[in-house]
Amino acid sequence: MLNGIMTELGKERSVIREIFEYGNARKREIGAENVFDFSLGNPSVPAPACVREEIGRLLSEMPAQKLHGYTSAAGDPAVRAQVADYIEGAFGVPSRADLVYMTCGAAASLTITLNALCEAGDEFVVVAPYFPEYRVFIERAGGRFVSVRADEHFHLDLNALEKAVGERAKAVIINSPNNPTGAVYGEAELKGLASLLKKKSAERGAPVFLIVDEPYRELTYGAVVPYPARYYADTVTCYSFSKSLSLAGERIGYISVNPACTGAEELFAAVCGAGRALGYVCAPALFQRVCAACLGKSSDVNVYRENRDLLCGALTSYGYDCIPPEGAFYLFVKSPEADAKVFCERAKKYELLLVPSDSFGVEGYVRVSYCVERSVIERSLPAFERLVKEYSK
Ligand code: PLP
Repeated sequence: MLNGIMTELGKERSVIREIFEYGNARKREIGAENVFDFSLGNPSVPAPACVREEIGRLLSEMPAQKLHGYTSAAGDPAVRAQVADYIEGAFGVPSRADLVYMTCGAAASLTITLNALCEAGDEFVVVAPYFPEYRVFIERAGGRFVSVRADEHFHLDLNALEKAVGERAKAVIINSPNNPTGAVYGEAELKGLASLLKKKSAERGAPVFLIVDEPYRELTYGAVVPYPARYYADTVTCYSFSKSLSLAGERIGYISVNPACTGAEELFAAVCGAGRALGYVCAPALFQRVCAACLGKSSDVNVYRENRDLLCGALTSYGYDCIPPEGAFYLFVKSPEADAKVFCERAKKYELLLVPSDSFGVEGYVRVSYCVERSVIERSLPAFERLVKEYSK
């Protein structure tokens, strides 16, 4: 017999992937230029020049067996030191190379951190709308998934969090800049969250950790993204280069355990143990080194900014209600009818492929990924306009 839960997970199609596959089939039928696929969060801007330059330099200067061989499980020591120096320099918080663990992207950073923290019966609190894989990651680590609504502007609702963070809460996960809303949490709300978690930790007599999922940190349109570990000691940062450097397929990121964390060394040992148990021998060796040379850099965010302005401006002028994104590359749009799934089916008639917000744990919205060629947005606008007019008839 097979593991039933895994078989279920494998068979259960991700809504987003299903829409993407539908789009590919449709493109074969009617031509790619006639399908407007806004489903996936695959970066559409090339990686910055430093990525190719560093790949070239490493390939020509570093002996191949060293470049492509295993690194230490936690990562190449020089790379970990560069990451720690970068964190200290950029965010003004202490960081230690021996508390940095190189990973295969944010998904690995999260699963490793959750497995490191989770004991039987622990709860992990996420803010809805949320990245759909959180539920899978939490439940497979043995935790209980608890979701709490963001406020009406999709920022943290501290009153709701106060109620949701209970006796068994082991950690809260936040994601800013946010997928799917584009919200960037400001300093005041992070300070508010920090005091709430300090109070809860004191009541519980054990830390309630803050897990910060930030693959979109560099992708903002003027908003400052505060570094949460500045405000709350018990923070584990789960970073990824997938989006910032457009390296989603290369699978590279890191975990940084804040040195001020309760039992930081023990927690880091648990991170190493979880990485080992999950079979992550080490993160891709070439890309560890490439990313170390590109810390703090990003793909040209102006391309996303122009896409955002074009799409958000046009949709608003047609009568859609859009949340202006402060970061990431997603537009969260109110569905003109209560059931966003029905609306997305209707959008398909116009070859518009949108993701209903039900996948993100809230109803009544759709996510439009604007990490696409500009021409796709331009060609799609008449379809968006005709679609919304159906509702004014
Ligand atoms: N967290 C969020 C909020 C995401 O949007 C994504 C990917 O879209 C991930 C984690 C996973 O990122 P990675 O590709 O680095 O594993």
